[in-house]
Amino acid sequence: MGWEANVRTVTPYVAGEQPKEQGVIKLNTNESPYPPAPGVARALREYDADILRKYPDAETEPLLSELAAYYGVEKEQVFVGVGSDDVLAMAFLTFFNHPTLPVLFPDITYSFYDVWAELFRIPYEVQMLDGQFRIKEEDYHKPNGGVIIPNPNAPTGELAPMQMFENILRANPDVVCIVDEAYIDFGGESCLKLIDRYENLLVVRTFSKSRALAGMRIGYAFGSKKLIRCLQDVKYSFNSYTMNSITLAAGVEAVRDDAYFKEITKKVITTRERSKRELAALGFSFPDSKSNFIFATHEKYDAKELFEALRAHNIYVRHWDKPRIGNYLRISIGTDEEMDTLFAFLKEYCRA
Ligand SMILES: *Cc1c(COP(=O)(O)O)cnc(C)c1O
Repeated sequence: MGWEANVRTVTPYVAGEQPKEQGVIKLNTNESPYPPAPGVARALREYDADILRKYPDAETEPLLSELAAYYGVEKEQVFVGVGSDDVLAMAFLTFFNHPTLPVLFPDITYSFYDVWAELFRIPYEVQMLDGQFRIKEEDYHKPNGGVIIPNPNAPTGELAPMQMFENILRANPDVVCIVDEAYIDFGGESCLKLIDRYENLLVVRTFSKSRALAGMRIGYAFGSKKLIRCLQDVKYSFNSYTMNSITLAAGVEAVRDDAYFKEITKKVITTRERSKRELAALGFSFPDSKSNFIFATHEKYDAKELFEALRAHNIYVRHWDKPRIGNYLRISIGTDEEMDTLFAFLKEYCRA
């Protein structure tokens, strides 16, 4: 039909499975295995529904101020959105507008980047990670329309030093560079401290992983006042009220309970380090993850077959039928108990 010629067609991002059945050990989408801070449940219980008559705060207060205070930045340096996917999509739309020069990101990375680039018709060029799945800094020292790199990278878990980002920022003063820090709380050094020095740096974060609130949909970003203003202008030109009042109230409680946040983050890190030892003992190899997942491969076993075998035993991990990573599984860090079930299965599988 004629109308079909003028449709914006895209191949959408495919998220990890959310099984409906009970009893699944869910290690496939990097959610927290722990509940959100107790204050979140309290805020939801005590929420006065009458507040919902009114529009929420368009400036995303009180969460905006809470984040600014917690991270020691000014309110004007913070942006809040509906999960970091919303923040990132908005950032692509706002900052990546060079008519010809491509936006650069790694070939193995968060698989939403190329989807947004296609959706917004932004030229892009992927840069090959090296044989150890590390970013080659020199790939980002060439003319481009913008740079986006997750740190730690996903799905590899590999952390790059802050110095690399500083070098890339220095080499690219004329474009916006985005560091996607979805997993930075699990032991990495953040680029947040660079925002005062580099006006073109946007640091994007999420409540979905380390703050155990994937279902709430909260993402945020730090940048220079100018950069944040640009993001806001685009947001207000699209939908002023992206964040609902309940979410804003819940988010505040998650930030306020720093002790709980630190406790669950530490638990995930401890379990991750133990998981590395267990997996290595079984003959798996993997990049040295600084995230809440491990990207593992085994030279004797086919990843897809193992993925199916795990699934048949109600253990869900993530597998991609893609070049270079087809023989890897991304395993989210669960509770110690969940990981023990996984290791018990793997021990049997590797023995058989
Ligand atoms: C999970 C993830 C996100 C998106 O998280 P939201 O749930 O939308 O906040 C963004 N970037 C990377 C690299 C991720 O792994």
